[in-house]
Amino acid sequence: MDDCVFCKIVKGDIPSTKVFEDDQVVAFKDIKPLAPVHILIIPKTHIESLSKAEDEYASLLGICQITAKKVAEKMGIKDAFRLLLANGSSAGQTVFHLHYHLLGGWGKEVPEMEVKKEKLP
Ligand code: 5GP
Ligand code: ZN
Repeated sequence: MDDCVFCKIVKGDIPSTKVFEDDQVVAFKDIKPLAPVHILIIPKTHIESLSKAEDEYASLLGICQITAKKVAEKMGIKDAFRLLLANGSSAGQTVFHLHYHLLGGWGKEVPEMEVKKEKLP
């Protein structure tokens, strides 16, 4: 997709710090890290969001998750990481090319999972 920032990263048109790449998936450092280790794992195929992913992408999404596990091992956080996907702008998705956030490296200061309880019904 021409105007997609992550497609541009896949093509190398926008620089990124890649930590893993194969023919289907790329993993690179988030430009504004929210944890000591913050990696984005994306399929090379442009999929807008999880809710737009057809059944045919089930195996590709599984590969993304297995890649997250391998990247966690490579980054030294295999025993303590979170894998997060934001679906839709109301859930905080800002880049509409499906991606998983791999977060970790906190040591003993693991933050609470952030849930805005006051907004729950
Ligand atoms: P979202 O908010 O959609 O779940 O996550 C998008 C993420 O992409 C954000 O954490 C943001 O910092 C990251 N991001 C946006 N543009 C770029 C970029 O050009 N390069 C890199 N490395 N990360 C980006
Ligand atoms: Zn894209």
